[in-house]
Amino acid sequence: MNVNQSAPPVPPYGQPQPVYPGYHQSSYGGQPGSTAPPNTYGVYNGPVPGYQQTPPPGVSRAPPSSGVPPASTAQVPCGQGAYGQFGQGDVQNGPSSTVQMQRLPGSQPFGSAPLAPVVSQPAVLQPYGPPPTSAQVTAQLAGMQISGSVTPAPPPSGLGYGPPTSLAPASGSFPNAGLYGSCPQGQAPPLSQAQGHSGAQPPQRSAPQQASSFTPQASGGPRMPSMTGPLLPGQSFGGPPVNQPNHVSSPPPPQAPHPGTQMAGPPGPPPSMHSSQQQGYQLQQNGSFGPARGPQPNYGSPYPGAPAFGSQPGPPQSLPPKRLDPDAIPSPIQVIEDDRNNRGSEPFVTGVRGQVPPLVTTNFLVKDQGNASPRYIRCTSYNIPCTSDMAKQAQVPLAAVIKPLARLPPEEASPYLVDHGESGPLRCNRCKAYMCPFMQFVEGGRRFQCCFCSCINDVPPQYFQHLDHTGKRVDAYDRPELSLGSYEFLATVDYCKNNKFPSPPAFIFMIDVSYNAIRSGLVRLLCEELKSLLDFLPREGGAEESAIRVGFVTYNKVLHFYNVKSSLAQPQMMVVSDVADMFVPLLDGFLVNVNESRAVIISLLDQIPEMFADTRETETVFAPVIQAGMEALKAAECAGKLFIFHTSLPIAEAPGKLKNRDDRKLINTDKEKTLFQPQTGAYQALAKECVAQGCCVDLFLFPNQYVDVATLSVVPQLTGGSVYKYTCFQVENDQERFMSDLRRDVEKVVGFDAVMRVRTSTGIRAVDFFGAFYMSNTTDVELAGLDGEKTVTVEFKHDDRLNEESGAILQCALLYTSCAGQRRLRIHNLALNCCTQLADLYRNCETDTLINYMAKFAYRGVLNSPVKTVRDTLITQCAQILACYRKNCASPSSAGQLILPECMKLLPVYLNCVLKSDVLQPGAEVTTDDRAYVRQLVTSMDVAETNVFFYPRLLPLTKSPIESTTEPPAIRASEERLSNGDIYLLENGLNLFIWVGAGVQQGVVQSLFSVSSFSQITSGLSILPVLDNPLSKKVRGLIDSLRAQRSRYMKLIVVKQEDKLEMLFKHFLVEDKSLSGGASYVDFLCHMHKEIRQLLS
Ligand SMILES: [Zn+2]
Repeated sequence: MNVNQSAPPVPPYGQPQPVYPGYHQSSYGGQPGSTAPPNTYGVYNGPVPGYQQTPPPGVSRAPPSSGVPPASTAQVPCGQGAYGQFGQGDVQNGPSSTVQMQRLPGSQPFGSAPLAPVVSQPAVLQPYGPPPTSAQVTAQLAGMQISGSVTPAPPPSGLGYGPPTSLAPASGSFPNAGLYGSCPQGQAPPLSQAQGHSGAQPPQRSAPQQASSFTPQASGGPRMPSMTGPLLPGQSFGGPPVNQPNHVSSPPPPQAPHPGTQMAGPPGPPPSMHSSQQQGYQLQQNGSFGPARGPQPNYGSPYPGAPAFGSQPGPPQSLPPKRLDPDAIPSPIQVIEDDRNNRGSEPFVTGVRGQVPPLVTTNFLVKDQGNASPRYIRCTSYNIPCTSDMAKQAQVPLAAVIKPLARLPPEEASPYLVDHGESGPLRCNRCKAYMCPFMQFVEGGRRFQCCFCSCINDVPPQYFQHLDHTGKRVDAYDRPELSLGSYEFLATVDYCKNNKFPSPPAFIFMIDVSYNAIRSGLVRLLCEELKSLLDFLPREGGAEESAIRVGFVTYNKVLHFYNVKSSLAQPQMMVVSDVADMFVPLLDGFLVNVNESRAVIISLLDQIPEMFADTRETETVFAPVIQAGMEALKAAECAGKLFIFHTSLPIAEAPGKLKNRDDRKLINTDKEKTLFQPQTGAYQALAKECVAQGCCVDLFLFPNQYVDVATLSVVPQLTGGSVYKYTCFQVENDQERFMSDLRRDVEKVVGFDAVMRVRTSTGIRAVDFFGAFYMSNTTDVELAGLDGEKTVTVEFKHDDRLNEESGAILQCALLYTSCAGQRRLRIHNLALNCCTQLADLYRNCETDTLINYMAKFAYRGVLNSPVKTVRDTLITQCAQILACYRKNCASPSSAGQLILPECMKLLPVYLNCVLKSDVLQPGAEVTTDDRAYVRQLVTSMDVAETNVFFYPRLLPLTKSPIESTTEPPAIRASEERLSNGDIYLLENGLNLFIWVGAGVQQGVVQSLFSVSSFSQITSGLSILPVLDNPLSKKVRGLIDSLRAQRSRYMKLIVVKQEDKLEMLFKHFLVEDKSLSGGASYVDFLCHMHKEIRQLLS
């Protein structure tokens, strides 16, 4: 058998078959007995090469497993075009009762009290302190001095950040609370609150003008007319950029006497990378915006031991003795662009073992020829060291980021469904691996040897087929499980709970109707939206109507269940007030078919907002809500999903009651980890019950203040659910985002009651798992629900020696219940190369996947270790990875040179982004809930999501010709790259900004914002006016397309240069030093260099 051929005959079922009509055929080897010769075994075709664990003939493997160390590629002579060595395409790719109930009168007419006016609540963000002073950029570039031990500095103090409570809500606040921040008004008693916000508050737009803690930028100074982006050739700061991007020399410009020492020299006065005295650099230096770059007071060094940059009044103008040209260090933009150019035009064909796929930022099509598409599985390395000693030496984590139910582009075929009838899928008797292209048929096809455990198994008669002269089954290309990397099996009843085929799943909508939810307009909006949303429940294949049933619950301190049986004229409410022992008061009529009960459901959704319009109840419960939903599914004997819409810390007396334990003083202490831990074990216990029932929980939060996301998100996290957070929700500002997220969440295809297992060939095994799931043993990943966006990251360790010839094989098997209630197995297989030379490992790594793993590892680490320890661990590991390369793979060169492996040259810049992310190094504006929220989001992100989340995309909007239809080329995320004459868009998958330079032409301002001047643009604007001109259409089109690419709706915030809101935007300029003390890219690279040199000496 030979599955690795690069060009197999086109399988009869056609490779790219975008539309597979229905999943119910059994055309692939179904019909047991129909194709198989009864008991006649084929003639034994002579010795089959694969029988002795040797690879089948003709196995093509690329890239070669040994050869010239990649450093030779990397070390291109100086002076070449900075990225001249990128031609080689594939070489440099680096890159989730009994209780008496209070029953209201059976058919209770709902009161229809007039609804209180929806009071808009001013969204108030925590005030920010002064903008980064001019010193920041100087300091960030000057931060090369690196010495001493690494002790993270505490977050900068004295920057003028006030605690949220220190300021009156109306002053110094930011609009658009969606990003960060808490609302000061919280849960005041209804009366006073209602009075306080009865429309008297100014609309949020006015907030930015009210500067209280905001110190205006020092420089109102003359702006340079225009500031262009990257330097022009020959315009470098410190002489021509002679160094290769992955081969960064820190040796200074000619005047520096000792090139080799400048990186580790004693800390001197803060050197300035860019001298404002240097002719021609002034534009870049002082830029068109921002004040003169002087030292920033109290600015802690990110690497203590080094002087705090701002603490020394070093003259920023002094010519630096050491400098590193930002243009000479590896650029993410360049790497992304090169990969697009080199690999975007041809499909990625998966027939070759150990191929590194194109980067996640490259658009490419995939042809499955025996290995799973990179859309399903991406690995940190496609060439694994043969021994654990080698792996330990290199310190490169061996991990796979798996997205089992990934959505595919329309051009690619969904996995075929294979029906083996009553016998079910064919498996290895010993290790239970599923039939796959890597199994070796022997003895004329009568037996097969397992590619995972080497066990020889009999081929059941109905599956028998003859082998051709190469030892391959003649029907190999007729069977997905023998020729494709990914496919599905229809599961038999043996794969079902209690040996019973599952019922279709159910969705239960559980709506908080406490005071906050009513006042913000949330309940009214939600009920209105649900009416139409119910027509978009996930369907399978060509089904006309969704099989999913729905149910409704509202709650505050008590729960209200609704009977919406189709035979009723009006819905009926049943109240359960004994929240300590939750039960479901009705079975019949609670979960219904939407079409059958439509009239009653619509009536209910019309009445809910009226019923609770006058509520004074501010307290809520939370755990009993989940308990009720889970019990309802249990009673209906089905899996399903709870959609919970919740507003406040559940302080009402009930199981899972929480207290406000937010304490920012814990940041940077050994107790910081408690901020990320749940405050009670009740939710884990509840999650375990949910998982057993196949009850997935999606949580929509609308907090006005601390709600303890760390605790509330435990159940969603452990059940494969999602958490959404809309801080200070206001209908007028957040409606679009919430509706879009909700619609997507309700419509998305979900697998329920799932179990995932990753099997590996002998030599390595899965040892660790990251994502949103539950594990009750060490091998099975249990997911109450799994959607097409969630990933599970799996780490592998050696348990034996691997073999270069046979490579290493992974098989991910996901057993799940489809939306229509069908039990299925989805199988993904991936073969990797194995190497005895470290150079081969370093040549076949994917940095983006590495970062995905490292971020998840770190974000889990903060649960148990001080954040500083977690950061240090990351830095050390990165240094070890790079030092091992330097020592074993790079050609000898000056110690002053930093040499990075070609496909890891972005590791430092990306790792630095992880290190200074809100979870690991929070700024003063980041709340405890924000951190917990981001922490759990990242846990199940795929590689593309972590890539843009940690290194945002920054696009110039006015630089490319207006008629150009392609997306403008991105630029590096640094203030240096912004020109005040332009407009930029920045996105990271969660946030979307438009930054407007103060020198933008009037015409442009008019075309985009419909106002006549820069000063008239509303800062914090979240919707661009719809104007009929090319620029407006183009920009709005771009925003739509970016939103469509991301799994969550990104709310737009328009930010003006030198406006207070600019601080929010600058937070995402990740190559710069951050206000929270995070190092600039240049500084971090220098620091990394020093760490590497220490390891090598
Ligand atoms: Zn086996």
